[in-house]
Amino acid sequence: MTFSRTRAVKNRATAPATALSEKAGVRPDLFGGHEVAFEALVENALVGVGFHVGRTLVWANQKMAEMLGYEQHELIGVSVRLFYASRKDYLEVGREYQRLTSPQGYVHERKLKRKNGEVIWCLISGKRINPTDSKSPSVWVLQDITARKLAEEALTKVNEQLEQQVQARTLKLQNLNRSLLEEVSMRRAMELQLLVSREKYQAIFRNLSVGIVVTDFSGRIVEVNRAMHAYAGTRELAAFLDQIQVPEAVIQADATKVSLMAFLERIAPSEPRSISRAQISWVVEPRSRDFSVVASRLSSGGLGVAYIFEDITEQKLAREREMEQRQSLAHGGRLALMGQMATTLAHELGQPLNASQSYLASIRYRLKSELSERPDVLEAFELAERHLEQAGQIVRSVRSFVSLRQTPPTQVNMKEWLDRTLALLAPRLRASRTHVELDIPKTRELPWVRANSVEIQQVLMNLMVNAMDAMQEVRILDKAILIRIRRERGRRVCVTVADNGPGVQVRPASKVFDDYFTTKARGLGMGLAISRTIVESHDGELRLTRVKGWPGAAFRFTLCAEGV
Ligand code: ADP
Repeated sequence: MTFSRTRAVKNRATAPATALSEKAGVRPDLFGGHEVAFEALVENALVGVGFHVGRTLVWANQKMAEMLGYEQHELIGVSVRLFYASRKDYLEVGREYQRLTSPQGYVHERKLKRKNGEVIWCLISGKRINPTDSKSPSVWVLQDITARKLAEEALTKVNEQLEQQVQARTLKLQNLNRSLLEEVSMRRAMELQLLVSREKYQAIFRNLSVGIVVTDFSGRIVEVNRAMHAYAGTRELAAFLDQIQVPEAVIQADATKVSLMAFLERIAPSEPRSISRAQISWVVEPRSRDFSVVASRLSSGGLGVAYIFEDITEQKLAREREMEQRQSLAHGGRLALMGQMATTLAHELGQPLNASQSYLASIRYRLKSELSERPDVLEAFELAERHLEQAGQIVRSVRSFVSLRQTPPTQVNMKEWLDRTLALLAPRLRASRTHVELDIPKTRELPWVRANSVEIQQVLMNLMVNAMDAMQEVRILDKAILIRIRRERGRRVCVTVADNGPGVQVRPASKVFDDYFTTKARGLGMGLAISRTIVESHDGELRLTRVKGWPGAAFRFTLCAEGV
């Protein structure tokens, strides 16, 4: 089978092969007698095979003819220039081939042109039959690699496209990355700035000398600064929150007492950016401080209200001291004036009083026998003498009071003191039809007090005269004065004088103690002021009070019991 096929091939190609051998100058015995088999092999090879002499094709197999699109015989004797796609290729291969001396031959990939102009890719390998002879004919083998090349080209194209896409993507990614990096660094810068400003504000917040409390939108306390903790006597938020629950620790301007927490809730403004202010006293045992508080509703940051506490205790004290000083200066001025007047009065009155006393004594002496028969006149004489004596003592005590040489206090029997005062006022009480109701302990239970007898007599007299004055319009039956003496806890003795008059009309009622305050046409307005000064100089106090069953005014003063 193989043989007959070889024969068939031989029949088809012998002639040209023989011609080829001859043309190439190849010895006919070159193939060792097997040239027929060899030719058949070459003829039927799956690759194109051609013999060149110089650059002329002297024989080509069927496959080469197929590859180049010619009839086999058309290829004989043609220059290979015909097949190169360009002159450049032709010359380049020629140069390479001339230099070729290696036994491996020359292998290259080229584009070749088919007869119909179509271009194909071929792997071309050429080899001199005698490598050392540059004139030696050569054998060329062509392999059609168009499909591979096209695939390669397509692949390259796809690769290029891919590359382009990758490049485009890379560029895009790079850009994205760059902008991301820029954003990151911008954010970092912003965060840093924020941190710096936050730290700055936190440092200010922490170290401000005013107390600060910040709540969130729900009213929950979230921040308390150092100064505020110092006011509360706390160090941590939890302790602070406990401290502000203490009831009645805050005294508000209207004197009501609440916890600090309740106060904070009360003054929290409801509108954003609005502000409310208050002044309070805040008691954190053992001390109490005065604060000016400003609360403002914040508008951002999820925050609620910021409260600022300014400690005004010292300012307030300084203001009060200043007021006191001013008042005492004014008071002092008035007192000095009064003192001058009193000294003048005492001086002026001293003489006529002394004279009256001696005249009265001489009349009494002269009328001695008559008076023994007229006890009523005698009583009037004695009263007149006592009044004069009292007046003399008042003048003396005014002198010593003003000159600061006060009569030293003595032990005063209260029963005697009361009796003497009532005796002095008896004519006036009678004239005004005023009844005196005594509510006092039994005589032996009545304490002794340490006092300046004349001064405290003056106080009781002032109160009783005022009571009588107040009851001028009262029905005679109702004209009554209550004098109540009570021994209180410790050393205090308390004397109350109440009446049935209309009571103190002025508001505030405490005004009656002011210097020169009077509602009487001929009043001086000094009675109660002097009485209070006297009582206070005895370590006691004089104030307005109420007594059940006595609708008018009631004054109460205290003295110190002796020897307890
Ligand atoms: P004066 O008697 O000169 O007015 P006082 O200081 O003794 O001065 O009294 C001051 C004022 O207090 C009186 O003018 C009067 O308005 C009021 N007052 C004092 N005592 C009474 C009283 N018992 N009832 C009502 N008002 C009184």
